[in-house]
Amino acid sequence: MCEDFSCSNQVSPPMILSLGKRTTQESVEKVVRRLLENGLESQVVVSGDITLVVVTSDAEAIAGHFFSQLEGVEKVVKLTNRTPLAADSCAVVNIGKIDGPRGRLSIGGGQPVVIAGPCSVESKEHIFQTAEAVRNAGAKAVRGGAYKPRTSPYDFQGLGLDGLKFMAEAGEKFKLPVISEVMAIEHIASAEPYVDMFQVGARNMYNYELLKELGRQSKPVLLKRAMSATIDELLQSAEYILASGNLQVVLCERGIRTFETRVRNTLDLSAVAVLKSLTNLPVLVDPSHATGKRDYVRALSRAAIACGADGLVIESHCQPDKSVSDAAQAITPDTLKQIVLDSAAIYQALNLRDQDKPVVSSCEPVVLR
Ligand code: PEP
Ligand code: MN
Repeated sequence: MCEDFSCSNQVSPPMILSLGKRTTQESVEKVVRRLLENGLESQVVVSGDITLVVVTSDAEAIAGHFFSQLEGVEKVVKLTNRTPLAADSCAVVNIGKIDGPRGRLSIGGGQPVVIAGPCSVESKEHIFQTAEAVRNAGAKAVRGGAYKPRTSPYDFQGLGLDGLKFMAEAGEKFKLPVISEVMAIEHIASAEPYVDMFQVGARNMYNYELLKELGRQSKPVLLKRAMSATIDELLQSAEYILASGNLQVVLCERGIRTFETRVRNTLDLSAVAVLKSLTNLPVLVDPSHATGKRDYVRALSRAAIACGADGLVIESHCQPDKSVSDAAQAITPDTLKQIVLDSAAIYQALNLRDQDKPVVSSCEPVVLR
């Protein structure tokens, strides 16, 4: 009898076939064809001069020598988990460029960062005012939605392309890298010139086609955990982006749906500790969507930093009650400033710098065929 929920749907970890440095396109295709003839799907990954064929179908029932005897295969590696790239990933993700128009922010492996901004970009004046206020409060990047995933189709859906342009201008004026959500593949190309990091919202964590397309981009991705996702599902969604070639992924815990009704969601801080033990990827916490109520944002921000988060993503507005979306959770720039000071103080007081930090790994682009 299976008592562990996770084993009811168990799929074996992927198998990786290394074709070595001198392989040809012809031998790669031959290996892929032989796998297909045996009912096995695969994906070809080229990184530098190394070519790998990742067997994505369940290969448990096939004898090991079948793979090692395939022509052109030099080495067979059987992985022990289904998120190998997430497990051995970038520890530091840079958003923007030092000499770029909006400056640069490094996330992971040091001082916690605070990213802040409105839920939605409401107008040009609004995003300029908010960007200046959050920058003065100590935020190091500005967030804001131009494409908004609203529960009701009758609610404000965002300013779209205009909102992105306003954000980029505000980011340039106040030297803040810009983060904004894309909900569909078509949004990626329109957002690309104006953002320094793409956000995947909770509702799209399972949108695998979107994740794969973001994996083909050169800008980093902030991946938020879906309200119903397990930690492993979040990691597997990250794996989609990583396996498509984009190694710059930052995870974000933003609360999950539980029986509790006093808060909008329940902030799962255990996820931060668990993710930190399973992956090098930086982990941020969004205490705004986690609580849905501004009165709790500061307390949970403190807890998030204390438990090892690499930073916070917070909704802030100069007139919180006037926010066109998520007004109840928006905090003033003054409260934001206190949170920025709290974060630095907690980081220092707990000597978080001295904790075992993952080795900073490089983020060479991987090319997918
Ligand atoms: C947001 O960050 O604006 C947002 C909609 O958050 P989430 O996807 O976590 O609900
Ligand atoms: Mn919001």
